[in-house]
Amino acid sequence: MTGIVPQLLDWFDRGQRDLPWRRPGVTPWQILVSEFMLQQTPVARVEPAWLAWVQRWPTPSATAAASAADVLRAWGKLGYPRRAKRLHECATVIAAEYDDVVPSDVETLLTLPGVGAYTARAVACFAYRRRVPVVDTNVRRVVARVVHGRAEAAASSSPRDLADVETLLPDDELAPKFSVALMELGATVCTARAPRCGLCPLDMCAWRSHGFPSSTARTRRTQRYAGTDRQVRGRLLDVLRGNDSPVTRAQLDVAWLSDTAQRDRALDSLLVDGLIEQTADGRFALAGEGDQAVAADSCVPPLESSAPQANLRR
Ligand code: SF4
Repeated sequence: MTGIVPQLLDWFDRGQRDLPWRRPGVTPWQILVSEFMLQQTPVARVEPAWLAWVQRWPTPSATAAASAADVLRAWGKLGYPRRAKRLHECATVIAAEYDDVVPSDVETLLTLPGVGAYTARAVACFAYRRRVPVVDTNVRRVVARVVHGRAEAAASSSPRDLADVETLLPDDELAPKFSVALMELGATVCTARAPRCGLCPLDMCAWRSHGFPSSTARTRRTQRYAGTDRQVRGRLLDVLRGNDSPVTRAQLDVAWLSDTAQRDRALDSLLVDGLIEQTADGRFALAGEGDQAVAADSCVPPLESSAPQANLRR
């Protein structure tokens, strides 16, 4: 395994993707934003959203000063919009408690809203060049193949993953670059379904050496999107993102007509997650745009003096 560092670094120098969050001058905050966005969304969709985001809100305080609704609008079609809410909360904490500077150590990063084990390590490594193992799905798969000779990583992550990557990391300042190169190999060459071993820079790979033994794990079904509650939530949020003022229940209902129970469930979950709110007059709005809009809207008299938010009523 001794050659893996120079082989991987040389390959990365020659062929890395030009991703905007890897360019010189990108701040730790902007790297943190990229990590939030990349958690569950492909690079191609994140890139334009990230560029627009950091141009509009280059610092934590700028993001914190934005309204929750504007943040949700800017999140657009990236999916899993709870991440946007958590990113907004994270910006607020960094602006208020850390002088607008993203903390650099993993322990402090882990205390921030929305920052889990992977994101904390990624920010410490990529933004502050700390020598910490960074383990995502791609890295786990590469290590399973190169080190353990298995087609796939175990179904769930474990402390062993960190120990495995720690063993591979160079001891010097090259560790962060090695980490991103390992991730790049998993994303572009050692892919889940069709590894391109002919293009692989590594001359030692246990899985290849053993003749590519089949996976013993049960085949995981690809997660579908069409027809899921996630899709319904996205449709409902689209309606609200496209309106500056609260909308009626009827306006939301037409966004999903095929399953009314599913639509109710999705709407209720958006209320519970705090991504949307219900106004005193029974309409719906993005978080923070509810009753303030009603107060400013003299054309629609309120039907009730107040109503709890996370309790869906028709
Ligand atoms: S030889 Fe193939 S399986 Fe092994 S690390 Fe390279 S791409 Fe992945």
